[in-house]
Amino acid sequence: MKSKKMIKLLGITLSGILMFSALTGCGAKTSGQAASGGDKKIKIGVSMDDLRLERWQHDKDIFEAEAKKLGAEVVFQSANGDDTTQMSQAENLISQGVNVLVIIPHNGESIAPIVEEAHQNKIKVLSYDRLITNSDVDYYVSFDNVKVGELQGKAIVDKTPKGNYFMMGGSPTDNNAKLFRQGQMNVIKPYVDKGDIKLVGDQWVKDWSAEEALKIMENALTANNNKIDAVVASNDSTAGGAIQALQAQGLSGKVTISGQDADTAACQRVVEGIQSMTVYKPIKDIAAKAAEMAVKMAKGEEVQTNGSVTNNGQKDVPSVLLTPVAVTADNMNDTVVKDGFQKFDDVYKNVPQDKRPSK
Ligand code: BGC
Repeated sequence: MKSKKMIKLLGITLSGILMFSALTGCGAKTSGQAASGGDKKIKIGVSMDDLRLERWQHDKDIFEAEAKKLGAEVVFQSANGDDTTQMSQAENLISQGVNVLVIIPHNGESIAPIVEEAHQNKIKVLSYDRLITNSDVDYYVSFDNVKVGELQGKAIVDKTPKGNYFMMGGSPTDNNAKLFRQGQMNVIKPYVDKGDIKLVGDQWVKDWSAEEALKIMENALTANNNKIDAVVASNDSTAGGAIQALQAQGLSGKVTISGQDADTAACQRVVEGIQSMTVYKPIKDIAAKAAEMAVKMAKGEEVQTNGSVTNNGQKDVPSVLLTPVAVTADNMNDTVVKDGFQKFDDVYKNVPQDKRPSK
């Protein structure tokens, strides 16, 4: 009886001490470096631009699962495409005492001051998928985005080597949009120089919005009397908007059009022949790599990047750049489906049974 009471008393005293140290910050610091010592759970702050697009839900789910496997906790915020919201959410993550910050910026330029603020609080910053430009950001993990653009350009010129091309860029505030364009032009420019391809228009789609892409495509079709043979769309959401405008003019399936992300609707369009291609970027790879990097950064451990760097205007940022895959109706089943990214029955939903590949 006596010993039971003693244990209970000890228990209360111990939890009291723990509670006191948690409140005062004594015993365990809350900054990035602090996570290296002791068995305190690592807290990863994730500030995401926009969860409304299908792609980012995959990133969130996989990142959280991978971080959990590594014993870390994730505090997640989505700014739904608003710069001011993203800045204040990131500041809030810092003041919550996260050990490392992972940022998918809406605007790679305007979010830059957060890096300085994080560093002042001894928190390292990982730029995820999109680069934070002109900043002292610690690491960058993404895909080879110039390669993404090249895959899009190559698939389009293979299908339509001559004709009128409409260039539909991504969001002007997203550094990736510029890299996709660079890659697309690496392939397309020689055809333009030869005179085989004529660029009949070039617009960038604010926030990668499908509605915006629809309007842009409607106007482009009007301006060109519907004489457009190919649309170089930079991702699946904008391709979806552009395809709606093509459909309204009876042109869907007749105009070559690219995309990116292997979204469910885009994969369906690809196997139905309405969208010519998409680019599959294995999200499980980037999310798992990012979680691993974030945990190492929080612990103050070295992160392996195999010497790869990306210049962000201020510095060469140590980078991990993964490989994207071009997907057409021919290899859909062997890539996106086989990899478990999309389900066979979802992708081939609108394709008659006898026209589907074997599972
Ligand atoms: C990503 C694309 C995505 C786009 C819109 C880009 O930064 O790399 O995968 O489609 O943003 O969210």
